[in-house]
Amino acid sequence: MALLEKSFKEISPVDVGIIYEGERLRWKETHVELGGIRCDKKFEVVKARNMDEIEDEKTIVVGKDIGELEPENTYRFGILVEVAGAQVEEELEGVFERRIHDFTNWINGVMHLNQRYDVVIRIGKKTFKEGFTKFQYWGDVLCKLFKEELPIIEKMQVTFITDPDKVEEMYAKALEIYEARDARARGLRDEEVGEFYACTLCQSFAPTHVCVVTPSRISLCGAISWFDARAAARIDPEGANFPIEKGELLDDVVGEYSGVNEIVKKRSMGETERVYLHSIFDYPHTSCGCFEAIAFYIPEVDGIGIVNRDFKGKTPNGLTFAELSSQVGGGAQVNGFVGMAIEYIRSYKFLEKEGGLDRVVWMPQFVKDRVMDALDGMTEKIATEEDVETLEDLENFLRNANHPVVERWVEEEIPAEAAEVEVGGMVAPSLTPTIEAGTITLPGGTLLPGIGGGVKIVLKGAKIYAEKVIIRKMEKGK
Ligand code: SF4
Ligand code: ZN
Repeated sequence: MALLEKSFKEISPVDVGIIYEGERLRWKETHVELGGIRCDKKFEVVKARNMDEIEDEKTIVVGKDIGELEPENTYRFGILVEVAGAQVEEELEGVFERRIHDFTNWINGVMHLNQRYDVVIRIGKKTFKEGFTKFQYWGDVLCKLFKEELPIIEKMQVTFITDPDKVEEMYAKALEIYEARDARARGLRDEEVGEFYACTLCQSFAPTHVCVVTPSRISLCGAISWFDARAAARIDPEGANFPIEKGELLDDVVGEYSGVNEIVKKRSMGETERVYLHSIFDYPHTSCGCFEAIAFYIPEVDGIGIVNRDFKGKTPNGLTFAELSSQVGGGAQVNGFVGMAIEYIRSYKFLEKEGGLDRVVWMPQFVKDRVMDALDGMTEKIATEEDVETLEDLENFLRNANHPVVERWVEEEIPAEAAEVEVGGMVAPSLTPTIEAGTITLPGGTLLPGIGGGVKIVLKGAKIYAEKVIIRKMEKGK
């Protein structure tokens, strides 16, 4: 009997339904983890095939099956989904691929996060005990859901790979596929297209989040380009990807459009009223949770850092990716932070308001390698974890590299005679040029946020008691 005629009860030992989509599994509830930050190679990829190239509703396992994997461990992992149908085209691969995420999350006690080479899937202990010991169940659920929800798919075959060598081999091929997809949208400009597209797939996790996908701004998960969203909207205009009339271009530099504001306001239930597509200040794009990287303002050097999800260390401001993402996610608009795809760094509009690449001061070596060919003259000027550890190191590095942000520091500095201050009611014996996180008590008793508030205090040649303190609100984008 074809899977479409079967109920989920007949194909899976655990329940399947949209109600399980938002489930989270913590490590202690996890039987096995596939992919994820603890493992170096993981991927999921969809390929369009000819009808005679695949066997319908077939699940193939390369390597150990779920029940053969040692519990409480992490494994290299890959999923290859092959689809065919009269209307199935290569152009739709990226959109189909993104659905692996939500359809897998429909399985009770299975959690899927992220996309492409960043995936992490956890199978819960309870789910395993209830009999979810074979990839066959997962494959059947995917085949049924894909064919039900996307009827243009006439045939589908799923391959799960846990053999580490095979994962490595196919991972390299998957990267080539992603690169070819991303390359299509490069070169196309926002003004050359009649409309942008929205994606609301992540509203199951972040109910007010709306991704705005334009030629110059790939979605923050990195999985949906303007071409992908357009292809998806064509096959299902009532679905999660739909067109956005651009409306009036209100500000070219920040990337603000009246049509975008209108749609985002409507689809975020009034939560977000304005969106700057190309700035991290004031009205940055909202961030759900599956962003590939975060761009964050570093007030101490007046520059922008970028950290990717798989980066395990600390950024120069002492925060990890997880700590930063806890401030950014959930569909919020957070001044000074934005979730983004690594591919966005290549965009001709990349954070244009802030000065683009000229404003980027730090990124992990992994990210640098990914976009090396697009860094132009900035390759040696942007620090990585291999160059610096602390903010002080970063400042020295930037100065030595003659990074463009250094010119801005001069403008911000205050003449020595102006900066005499009492800090926290205590005499400050000496002060470094910038004050780091925490709060600063001024003589009048006012508390000022020391970080993240868009305020920077520069004290040069400070003496003991203040006659005058200059606090300058930093102009956005300068
Ligand atoms: Fe869609 Fe954006 Fe979520 Fe990607 S991050 S699936 S584009 S809503
Ligand atoms: Zn998301």
